[in-house]
Amino acid sequence: MTGATRGIGHAIAVRFAKEGCNVAFCGRARNDKMVAVEEELASIGVKAKGYAADVANYDSAQAFVKDVLADFGKVDILVNNAGITDDAAVKRMTEEQFDRVMHTNLGSVFCMTKAIQPSMWKQGHGSIVNIGSVVGVAGNYNQANYAASKAAILGFSKSCAKEFAARNIRVNVVCPGFIETEMTADIPQDLMNTWCSRIPMKRPGTTDEVAQACVFLASDMCPYITSVMLPVCGGMEDA
Ligand code: NDP
Repeated sequence: MTGATRGIGHAIAVRFAKEGCNVAFCGRARNDKMVAVEEELASIGVKAKGYAADVANYDSAQAFVKDVLADFGKVDILVNNAGITDDAAVKRMTEEQFDRVMHTNLGSVFCMTKAIQPSMWKQGHGSIVNIGSVVGVAGNYNQANYAASKAAILGFSKSCAKEFAARNIRVNVVCPGFIETEMTADIPQDLMNTWCSRIPMKRPGTTDEVAQACVFLASDMCPYITSVMLPVCGGMEDA
């Protein structure tokens, strides 16, 4: 999986490990955080290894998957979680801001899908879960670049689902809404209350609630589900 050094990706890695999956994950650098995640996953009782890879870079994604296949033998599930934001109103957004977010969020899904597809095709099964966002469906102020990248992930995933279905490779998208992470910890309480009041369930989601949706879509519990978009958003409108 991509981007498990913190946030939602970290929760996904832990949840898959608790379900008994060996976990190969990446971040952009091998650092203390990556080693700590490796140790945490290993303590759950599975094989776990972190790799330094920029998954938005084609060659880096190819090398990452090659190393994982050499170390783990096969990959049954790919979770494309790595993603960034670089917010600005369209009036002020630079071309560089637009390109960087599109390149990282959409480009990484393309690069990783290209890299993993031959081995999944050969083994005749696989499950790919891409992390979108409700913002990709509903749009959002100051996030036109991010919303466009996440909307594009839906179209890309549905196309792959059609192309890969004959080889028993499923491709689905999980779209989180407002999720509590390290980043949201600094949001003032009154602003949190305002945002939560717009969510029918009146609270942010947890990272583990996103992770559980990923496990479901990746698992044998839904062998006939492909090409779906599953919002994890407490019933937010437009999702
Ligand atoms: P974080 O910024 O907390 O974590 C992002 C992860 O991705 C990190 O582990 C980071 O690792 C990794 N990463 C980023 N770019 C790259 C890259 N080019 N190559 C390899 N790894 C990379 O994000 P969140 O946990 O908040 O979000 C995770 C996903 O969920 C994203 O796709 C995001 O768009 C989506 N999402 C999040 C929501 C939220 O409320 N938080 C809501 C909806 C969707 P490192 O820094 O070590 O390289």
